[in-house]
Amino acid sequence: MDYTRLSVSDFITRAGSGSIDLRDFYSRMFKRLKELNKTYNVFVTLAEEHDILDAKSARKPSGTLAGLPVSLKDNICSEGLQATAGSRILEGYEPPFDSTVAARLKSRGGVIVGKTQMDEFGFGWASTNSGWKIPKNPRDPTRVTGGSSGGAAALVAALDYPHLALGQSTGGSLSNPASFCGVVGLTPTYGLVSRYGLIDYGNSLDKIGPIAGTVRDAALMLSAIAGHDPRDPTTAQKPPGDYHSKLKSSFRNLRIGIPREYFGEGVEPRVSERVWSAIKKLESLGATCKEISLPMTPDAIAIYYIIATSEASTNLARFCGLRYGAEEPIEGDFNEYFSKVRSKYLGQEAKRRIILGTYSRMAGYRDQYYLKAMRARTLLIQEFRKAFRTCDVLAAPAMPCIAPRFKETESMSPLQNYMMDILTVAPNLAGIPTISVPCGTAESMPVGLHLMAGHFNEQALLNTAHSYEKSI
Ligand code: GLN
Repeated sequence: MDYTRLSVSDFITRAGSGSIDLRDFYSRMFKRLKELNKTYNVFVTLAEEHDILDAKSARKPSGTLAGLPVSLKDNICSEGLQATAGSRILEGYEPPFDSTVAARLKSRGGVIVGKTQMDEFGFGWASTNSGWKIPKNPRDPTRVTGGSSGGAAALVAALDYPHLALGQSTGGSLSNPASFCGVVGLTPTYGLVSRYGLIDYGNSLDKIGPIAGTVRDAALMLSAIAGHDPRDPTTAQKPPGDYHSKLKSSFRNLRIGIPREYFGEGVEPRVSERVWSAIKKLESLGATCKEISLPMTPDAIAIYYIIATSEASTNLARFCGLRYGAEEPIEGDFNEYFSKVRSKYLGQEAKRRIILGTYSRMAGYRDQYYLKAMRARTLLIQEFRKAFRTCDVLAAPAMPCIAPRFKETESMSPLQNYMMDILTVAPNLAGIPTISVPCGTAESMPVGLHLMAGHFNEQALLNTAHSYEKSI
């Protein structure tokens, strides 16, 4: 059987009815995964092939993901599988428990095949800050995958076997690599998906979400992981939707807002053009479009980097060389030991974030930076809420450019790096759901249409994206 022709849903139906030999499927798939990993560095850790083959020799798997291969970004814990969050400081750490999302995937029949590459702790936009190997873009290996969920997006783009990936976003890490690799990346509303068992970057910002080849597959994955979790008190109490079975390829009376600021300075004209043609397409399908303004857009980078680094600097304090991962011979007092381990094993960007975040939380500066950023964030949330009074969905580019070449990123300053997030940090700060869907190419590289919706309005977002995808 040629497994490469199977869609995710074909695979699930056939595997569920026992008409796929899973031993054969997984042994061929692992061969493919190893080849891809050699070419594109998509995994930090691949699961043990023999464990999977043994577990899968039982025929008929059940559940909505019956026997389907799934991958996890390296900051999502799965029992017994190394989790480093892209950092050398966590080398060898094997969590003794499952994150809630991993447990949910397993209980629905998903099979975890590996942990995908990422920027160290999520700090970056290109996956070039990984402590391990740097993933390459399958559309052009001289270019970055985007980040920080770069390995996941590259894997989905390169793999011709049925598979779904989970990534995670703090300030754009699902939309960005999805856009650069030409796949679908869905960032759920903050609090829709449990963060229990996620190695935190910024607790008030982190969202786990799907990366998939199609909108339908992303909806399937979201249905599998969404919903309240008593182990994560920030998850919403309300029951999640059934995104997959309610998915529609048409819409009625859809009002789309086009935020003027998202097409301004710094956005490449060839990217805006592709996105505008996608908007015209949605109009031809019956949507009404109007220009709107989100005036706080230029402030979002400053607000985001203060809040995200403040939260990251406290989260990283637990990596002190005593409880997890890397250790060194104990010498000197605690502070000396702590600095020795962290100086040796953390990358440059992680150190920069710790310094920035510690500064903005310090007595004397806290009011001026952290608390002020928190107040500004509330205003930004109100601005989005206001927009969703008259619009169902907003449309914009996901990234201001196509995936840059590695050599183009080498001379970028920290500020230039942070500016890459200009279009994604505001919706992430607001905690609203977004999706990046491929909408054409420039220089043969994919461009992502970014759709955003009000809190918990994932269904409208998915239906719009699905209608668009079906129409092209
Ligand atoms: N590029 C942003 C940052 O470095 C967002 C990354 C993310 O979402 N993890 O913080």
